[in-house]
Amino acid sequence: MSEHFSVERGLFDDVMVPNYAPSAVIPVRGQGSRVWDQQDKEYIDFAGGIAVSALGHCHPALVGALKEQGEKIWHLSNVQTNEPALRLAKKLVDSTFAEKVYFCNSGAESNEAALKLARRWALDVHGADKSQIIAFKQGFHGRTFFTVTVGGQAAYSDGFGPKPGDIDHAEYNNLDSLKALISDKTCAVMIEPLQGEGGIVSPTDEFIKGVRALCDQHNALLIFDEVQTGVGRLGELYAYMDLGVTPDILTSAKGLGGGFPIGAMLTTTEIAKHLKIGTHGSTYGGNPLACAVSEAVLDTVNTTEVLAGIKAKAKLYVDGLNAINAKYNVFSEIRGKGLLIGAVLTEKYQGQAKTFLNAAMDEGVMVLVAGASIIRFAPSLVIPDEDIALGLARFEKAIVSLV
Ligand SMILES: *Cc1c(COP(=O)(O)O)cnc(C)c1O
Repeated sequence: MSEHFSVERGLFDDVMVPNYAPSAVIPVRGQGSRVWDQQDKEYIDFAGGIAVSALGHCHPALVGALKEQGEKIWHLSNVQTNEPALRLAKKLVDSTFAEKVYFCNSGAESNEAALKLARRWALDVHGADKSQIIAFKQGFHGRTFFTVTVGGQAAYSDGFGPKPGDIDHAEYNNLDSLKALISDKTCAVMIEPLQGEGGIVSPTDEFIKGVRALCDQHNALLIFDEVQTGVGRLGELYAYMDLGVTPDILTSAKGLGGGFPIGAMLTTTEIAKHLKIGTHGSTYGGNPLACAVSEAVLDTVNTTEVLAGIKAKAKLYVDGLNAINAKYNVFSEIRGKGLLIGAVLTEKYQGQAKTFLNAAMDEGVMVLVAGASIIRFAPSLVIPDEDIALGLARFEKAIVSLV
């Protein structure tokens, strides 16, 4: 290397905006579910870049798609369409309820598009009074000012001046709290079909079906934020497929690109028509490189082999974590669905999830947290069973070092 400065963690504090507090370790390469840092120490990756690396690191199908497209054409404006975007959109439409797709670059952007579309639809079809958006406490929808305000943690949206208006928050898994807020003035209800950042909280069957019914009763659009739950994470291609509830708009990102930035908003022709020419857009949305990689992700994940494997691997995690807990009694609950799993720390360890994460790093396994008291696992959907076993053994060592 030719740099006359050293590329190490300390440089972060010198040259980066201080909105993150990254750990001391700098990973430099990955293969499958293993990652190596600057000192060549190996880690088993149970974090998956926060549910992004759906097929692990440097999956050959994704590397192949990126290289192939990288030698054809990288970027076109939206003045032209391109082959990878058309192929990906067609495959998303063929495998979901949706009839139309809009591409962007992130989860927040896909939710921003969904919310703007809902407001347009309501204004066109029902008039200016129908503008209320209802979302849920502890929900997370991204960090643009609109999406972070719709998200259910005021702490994330406070401190930036006046917020976008007519946004209310009900309680997750509490239908009465939604009933108290919803009316014919409600334009849309935005919900995660399993709260990720908010603590790995699954909806009850009665609740999620009740949300759909209330939306129907009041002519409100139901928007499923599947940025974290989508692309196989919970064991089906999209989480809605297992809930007996179909949304009007669905947003997807994270796993959709397997590590290449992409977002998508999916909806019906009838609703999509309200985003007329010129009403919304994105320079990079539908970028050929992103769409080519995403097509390879979808082709790989949307197979019975991979989808069935997710359920089998999830059982290895749950059984393994329960076995650890039987020895050390650190978790009050193991919850979640598919390969989005939360281990809730007992009363004694409240607020210490980050301590467990750091101890796990020391032992050579990367995990996530969801809030201060939950350890979250969001590994590759194709993580080898022996990597699950090895990673859990390292995680157990981390627990031994703390209890
Ligand atoms: C991560 C996440 C987002 C935000 O995605 P970005 O790509 O960071 O903008 C939105 N919604 C949910 C449910 C998420 O988990």
